[in-house]
Amino acid sequence: MDIQINTQRIQTDVLVIGGGTAGTMAAIKAKQAHPDGDVLILEKANIRRSGAIAMGMDGVNTAVIPGNSTPEQYVREVTIANDGIVNQKAVYQTGKLGFEVIQELESWGVKFQKDTQGNYDLKQVHRVGKYVLPMPEGKDLKTILTRQVKRHKVRVTNRVMATRVLVQNGRAIGAVGFDVRSGDFVVIQAKAVILCTGACGRLGLPLSGYLYGTYENPTNAGDGYSMAYHAGAELTNIECFQINPLIKDYNGPACAYVAGPFGAYTANAEGYRFIRCDYWSGQMMLEIWKELNSGKGPIQLKMTHLDEDTIAEIESILWSNERPSRGRFHEGRGENYRTHGVEMHISEIGLCSGHSASGVWVNEKAETTIPGLYAAGDMASVPHNYMIGAFVFGRLAGIHAVDYIQELEHIEPDLDFLKAEKARIYAPLTRPNGIPHTQVEYKLRRLVNDYLQPPKVGHKMEIGLNYFTRYNETLDMMGARDPHELMRCMEVHFIRDCAEMAARSSLYRRESRWGLYHYRLDYPEKNNEEWFCHINLKKHESGEMILFKRQVEPYVVEVDLEKEVYDVAVRKR
Ligand SMILES: Cc1cc2nc3c(=O)[nH]c(=O)nc-3n(C[C@H](O)[C@H](O)[C@H](O)COP(=O)(O)OP(=O)(O)OC[C@H]3O[C@@H](n4cnc5c(N)ncnc54)[C@H](O)[C@@H]3O)c2cc1C
Repeated sequence: MDIQINTQRIQTDVLVIGGGTAGTMAAIKAKQAHPDGDVLILEKANIRRSGAIAMGMDGVNTAVIPGNSTPEQYVREVTIANDGIVNQKAVYQTGKLGFEVIQELESWGVKFQKDTQGNYDLKQVHRVGKYVLPMPEGKDLKTILTRQVKRHKVRVTNRVMATRVLVQNGRAIGAVGFDVRSGDFVVIQAKAVILCTGACGRLGLPLSGYLYGTYENPTNAGDGYSMAYHAGAELTNIECFQINPLIKDYNGPACAYVAGPFGAYTANAEGYRFIRCDYWSGQMMLEIWKELNSGKGPIQLKMTHLDEDTIAEIESILWSNERPSRGRFHEGRGENYRTHGVEMHISEIGLCSGHSASGVWVNEKAETTIPGLYAAGDMASVPHNYMIGAFVFGRLAGIHAVDYIQELEHIEPDLDFLKAEKARIYAPLTRPNGIPHTQVEYKLRRLVNDYLQPPKVGHKMEIGLNYFTRYNETLDMMGARDPHELMRCMEVHFIRDCAEMAARSSLYRRESRWGLYHYRLDYPEKNNEEWFCHINLKKHESGEMILFKRQVEPYVVEVDLEKEVYDVAVRKR
């Protein structure tokens, strides 16, 4: 394919990279705070159906609804689930502002489950407290958000993938990327940049072996983690991996979350319950891993004991929302919830703060450590934030970015930087017969599985790290024949960066924490005395990746971590 590479130059006040859950909300809030300002969303897919909630959502995981729970109770629960390594001020924001988000979404037409009295019908899935709010009609959530983006006159550029944040004079001044259809080189000047590119969903390789058959939205390849790193921002808790229980061979959760409140539960092959609650935590995943390795696997989501009406209701929710292919998947395998449990397994590893804790360091205003650069959603370091947390931090990022840009002028990007980045992006097109991106990615992610997948071992991770650092040479052999393949090649660059960060952080933290997420066989115990801290990393001026400890800030909500240990095992039978 002969490609004419044009350059597009764009100016905006606030640039939002990634138009998923957090990004659409960040843009709407920035526009509400600054109606005369220009706000642009850059999205590598199409915001109508992009990101983790592309096909809707079947429930809210973190609904702090007055009368049911308080922000303080929520902060306690997340602090305990995360072994105490949290910036509570940031977590508090989700507890405090989440209800406003729910009310605003409702005013836009999003439906949440209510009881016959008209009250929010919350379910208990967490260890303590009711925070799960079902959305059985939540399939159009993303199209509703897109409508609001238009209504607020946010500019949207679909099909452009950002590759680097522009940083000059110590602050973020825009971004560079390319059009994944036309191949155009795109340079955007902005007064503030908000990164909302979601999780790193393509770090490990799923058991199915399919590159894009991941638990996470597969277009999220860790782009924002890598871009923030190269911009010089701090990242944190990268050793705290995301691992989820999922339907075996299916890129989605088994959804004990949804089925649990109806009486379903996670059981071993003998049909016995071995965990008390289905709220996802590292501790819960460790129990699943132990059961799978005890000879009592495989494990299953058990529904066979439920009556016909209940099973039909579960099916109607699970098969029409979030992962509407789920029903067809079961049908194809001849599976029926009435007669068989749903076989579950452990997902590939990934990076995600929403489900876990790893991300770009942000404070309670969604500020990263680079002035003018904000982050929100699954890539920003607020643990267990999920969908409502992404909305809350999108809001905060939009509002604070607008505050920040007052009186600021645009800065002209450095031409040498643009030239170098342009050469890096388009290099694979000069090698149309180079190694296909699929092969390079497959091998990289297989190495991730071989050397980083918990339980972790020091010398295995050293071998992995060696591979990941040397892999830069392999990236330089990748070939692309069109802009779409170019996008895939750039994603492999992001994944490689994330693999290196994951290996270095995991080696640095010499203890076990967060259940299975950072379970080291060579340091199997938790060591609060030395390691009650965040492990942060950043790119040093020399270009080296440096790691260091950041103290956990004093709590705003008291929690006695000696007494309140996260333990959900039930193995008495
Ligand atoms: C399978 C699954 C089930 C879930 N279930 C629940 C649930 O039941 N309840 C709940 O509360 N939460 C749930 N979550 C979590 C919730 O969906 C996420 O926390 C939230 O949607 C994350 O929002 P985000 O904006 O960070 O990422 P996303 O919504 O994924 O948005 C990221 C966007 O960035 C774009 N992008 C990525 N890279 C680039 C780039 N380089 N340039 C331009 N654009 C880019 C992507 O295309 C995407 O649109 C679930 C998540 C998953 C994956």
